[in-house]
Amino acid sequence: MLSVEDVVHKSRYRWSNWSGVCVTSPQTIVYPSTVEEVVSVVQSCAVRGQNLRVVGAGHSFTPLAATHDVLMSLDRLSGLVDVQVEERTATVWAGTRLKTLGELLHHHGLAQENLGDIDVQSIAGAISTGTHGTGGNFGTIATQVIGLTVVLASGEVVDCSETSHPELFYALRVSLGALGVLVKVKLRLVPSFRMVYESRRMPLLECLNQLDELKADHRHFEFYWFPHTDMAQVKWMDETADAVQVRSMKKYFQDVVMENRVYGALSELCRTMPTLCKTVSRLSANNVPVSRTVDYSHRLFATQRLVRFNEMEYNLPSAAMRETVLEMEEEVRRAKFAVHFPVECRFVRGDDIWLSPAYQRDSAYIAVHMYKGMEYEPYFTAMERIFRTKNGRPHWGKLHTQRAETLAGLYPRWNDFQRIRAIVDPSGMFLNDYLNALFHPTP
Ligand SMILES: Cc1cc2nc3c(=O)[nH]c(=O)nc-3n(C[C@H](O)[C@H](O)[C@H](O)COP(=O)(O)OP(=O)(O)OC[C@H]3O[C@@H](n4cnc5c(N)ncnc54)[C@H](O)[C@@H]3O)c2cc1C
Repeated sequence: MLSVEDVVHKSRYRWSNWSGVCVTSPQTIVYPSTVEEVVSVVQSCAVRGQNLRVVGAGHSFTPLAATHDVLMSLDRLSGLVDVQVEERTATVWAGTRLKTLGELLHHHGLAQENLGDIDVQSIAGAISTGTHGTGGNFGTIATQVIGLTVVLASGEVVDCSETSHPELFYALRVSLGALGVLVKVKLRLVPSFRMVYESRRMPLLECLNQLDELKADHRHFEFYWFPHTDMAQVKWMDETADAVQVRSMKKYFQDVVMENRVYGALSELCRTMPTLCKTVSRLSANNVPVSRTVDYSHRLFATQRLVRFNEMEYNLPSAAMRETVLEMEEEVRRAKFAVHFPVECRFVRGDDIWLSPAYQRDSAYIAVHMYKGMEYEPYFTAMERIFRTKNGRPHWGKLHTQRAETLAGLYPRWNDFQRIRAIVDPSGMFLNDYLNALFHPTP
């Protein structure tokens, strides 16, 4: 049996997430490159009584990956295992990054039906927190999963799906790395397709009054409201037969590099002088890009986020979008929060995954952001208070203050999830302090 040392590549490692808000010092970080190595590490942790946390791309804002013991990255378990083009399915290694996955699938004429707004996450990390995009006819990325292979705390390797170990499957798709190490993911796919993306400026009220039409008229619709203003940016994407518009290096530099640089510089100004937030938000609202782009779906969903921030996002019943945004607008006006990042508003179809925030409800998702290094607590706390009055469920990968006491009541299958967890990980190998607080009420 291999021991942890055989696959250790760094020790006394200091790890931090993308935004820098979570820092942890695991004793070791391991990079297994086969399922057998994953099993060996798990068995070795069991023998030593060590905790094990798995990390994807570290793009969650919550300390899900934090551990003082063993941190495991599946960066070496990446790529396609097999593809069934006729069946439109593929099995992929769990560490595969979404960007790589998109290109690999495209090569076979296949694509994921929907994605979030970045593509740097690992497929296992993305599904484990319920990562989603927008589009009322599409569920979270986890709903694209039709089979999983997991290494449990016992070292057993289990394949599960709707028909094989179905309870494990319903618990595992959104499971925060708390049930075991996902090593393979089988996905339901669609043929590659091109989309046209359009962005424009719209008064917030006009947008809120037309939500049903905008949602119905477009495959993917979302909007951003600029705090301290009454303006929004609306974005939509629809399938098209038009040819891909190739973006020159010059245009890429203007659109991505310059836009991010300018926004980064303005954000730095806001950090040093928070009273400027209002002006910067207004400036952004006045300069909403009016654009149209055509590309293959996997390239169009993703944007590059070069300016770092912290974020809270809540899932609400879909019908609550309008009134919630209006209440947020009123609260921002009253409390004059120093915030210049826009509020992101999306729609997602309900699902049947036990810990999915979209469990059994068609959903609105509202996200608030604060530039890295700026105080986010007062703003996030006030917004969370509003979200909670709407029966909001927090995005597992984003900042929130809910714990077992309140979470249990939000999820009808909460106890079933905990029952399965107790069976597959009786010693709590896959828990850390943060998950303990999420799962166990304080005595
Ligand atoms: C700039 C930015 C943009 C974002 N945009 C969106 C968006 O559009 N929509 C959205 O919903 N979210 C979004 N997020 C949140 C992000 O998608 C989630 O937090 C996602 O879980 C991060 O994936 P990751 O690969 O970085 O996983 P990590 O953050 O590293 O891990 C997430 C969870 O997955 C578990 N995990 C990872 N790999 C495995 C494995 N092999 N087996 C078992 N468990 C595993 C970890 O233990 C952890 O609990 C964004 C985040 C950032 C920073």
